[in-house]
Amino acid sequence: MSLAADRTEIENKTAPPAFDVSALGLQIKDEVLKFVLSAKVDESGRVFQVGDGVARVIGLENAVSGELLEFESGVTGIAMNLETDNIAVVLLGKDSGVNEGDFVMRTGRVAHIPVGDALLGRVVNALGEQIDQKGAILTPFTRQIERTAPGVLARKSVDKPLLTGIKAIDAMVPIGRGQRQLIIGDRQTGKTAIAIDTILNQRGQDVNCVYVAIGQKNSTVARIVNILTEYDAMRYTTVVAAGAAEAAPLQYLAPYSGCAVAEYWMEQGKDVLIVFDDLSKHAVAYRAMSLLMQRPPGREAYPGDVFYLHSRLLERAGRLTEAHGGGSITALPIIETLGGDMSAYIPTNVISITDGQIYLEAESFNAGIRPAINPGLSVSRVGGAAQTKAMKRIAAPIRTELAQYRELASFAQFSSDLDKDTRDRLRHGERIVEVLKQPQYKPIALEHEILILLAVTRHLTDAVRVEDIADFARELVAWFGLWHTALLDELRQGFALGAELEEKILAEIERFRAGRAAKA
Ligand code: ATP
Ligand code: MG
Repeated sequence: MSLAADRTEIENKTAPPAFDVSALGLQIKDEVLKFVLSAKVDESGRVFQVGDGVARVIGLENAVSGELLEFESGVTGIAMNLETDNIAVVLLGKDSGVNEGDFVMRTGRVAHIPVGDALLGRVVNALGEQIDQKGAILTPFTRQIERTAPGVLARKSVDKPLLTGIKAIDAMVPIGRGQRQLIIGDRQTGKTAIAIDTILNQRGQDVNCVYVAIGQKNSTVARIVNILTEYDAMRYTTVVAAGAAEAAPLQYLAPYSGCAVAEYWMEQGKDVLIVFDDLSKHAVAYRAMSLLMQRPPGREAYPGDVFYLHSRLLERAGRLTEAHGGGSITALPIIETLGGDMSAYIPTNVISITDGQIYLEAESFNAGIRPAINPGLSVSRVGGAAQTKAMKRIAAPIRTELAQYRELASFAQFSSDLDKDTRDRLRHGERIVEVLKQPQYKPIALEHEILILLAVTRHLTDAVRVEDIADFARELVAWFGLWHTALLDELRQGFALGAELEEKILAEIERFRAGRAAKA
């Protein structure tokens, strides 16, 4: 017998196995592979480079953009750039605790922040952690920091005023609940002051406020919190602060975090006011972050998606329909310009996203015209629909009269003898300018605004000396509060200011003026 035949015989004698061992091997291999895959081999990765608040991590193949990652040292980070062989993670804490070779775990979550009424009166960082030493924030609710904005069908147009208590704004650039109104101007032109006064004016208006401080000095933020506390405004306000000393990613997150806090209330049917102070610094923080992640810079060294940065934020403001609870978020983003240049990259971006702007001028501000609102360059594209009828009727001529006055005044300074009509118009304009001046932290009630503006626009103050206008206005309000509460009530109701009511009020203002002049 040949050897080959021998082998065949042996093989034929061997019974076929009850089950296929080689198949079992495959099956085991399969299971092991499945286990290995599910057993988080790619749920954890390792740091291979770290610096400037950014860590590069390999091995996290399933991580999604925006996901929260946990480092061995306890620091968390957000997955930003997903590249083919590594991901760039921005660190939400100090990078000094993170070392090359450290393990990084996925959490499967995107960043959340605590929300709810427990945040009223509190100062928190961009992650919703308390920084006011008032103890833990106890709330059962959390919300994603980044969220898509409500759709068109869930929104309705602005029809209710959000009063700032600042005469010049409520008259000339009225803001409606759900509107996005930009406050823009050079440094130290009273931008923050307008936002803070608006928050102070929400007392008793059933509006919750969120003030987001981005890239400011801690002492500035502390001063603002003190003011809000002193005027009893913290009761309905949350401050979200990411100071200049904080890492860029936290400054980048802060406005979205503030928005999440506001959205929770909006969805409960509440009206909310949110201030972003300021988005120029926000853009700078984002630029720093992007450059560290080696995203290519574009115009003015900002990354290409900087428009999306602010549009997706401001889109989240708006007014919901009754079917969606009827709540609203009114947003007051602030932008700092350089040398009054409104046409720089970030300002033009934000102007195109908002429903109007309040443009503050350094020149007027330094000349003592405060708030330094430029009536020609400031506009509210939707707020008129929310202005009360009485205010609308009185305020209509103010803008044009002011614009005419400014033109006339610059022209009149070169000529000595002016005709009576010109002199009258100058005199009238000066008084409008004077009456629109308003000190800080002194927002006033709508009916008082209407009363004062009625007096000045109907020429009843033309005979009052300019230096005396502020006193005149104050005494007028006090006198009406004493003798004519019924008339003030009618103005407050927001009904159309009929000719009859207007006549009645004008007659009383004139009586007050004559009595006052006689005493002097
Ligand atoms: P920054 O660019 O530093 O953020 P800003 O534009 O926010 O400045 P504010 O801080 O609001 O400006 O105001 C600058 C200064 O002017 C402050 O000292 C403030 O107290 C003062 N100020 C602001 N508004 C008024 C006002 N209506 N009347 C008097 N002083 C004012
Ligand atoms: Mg400021």
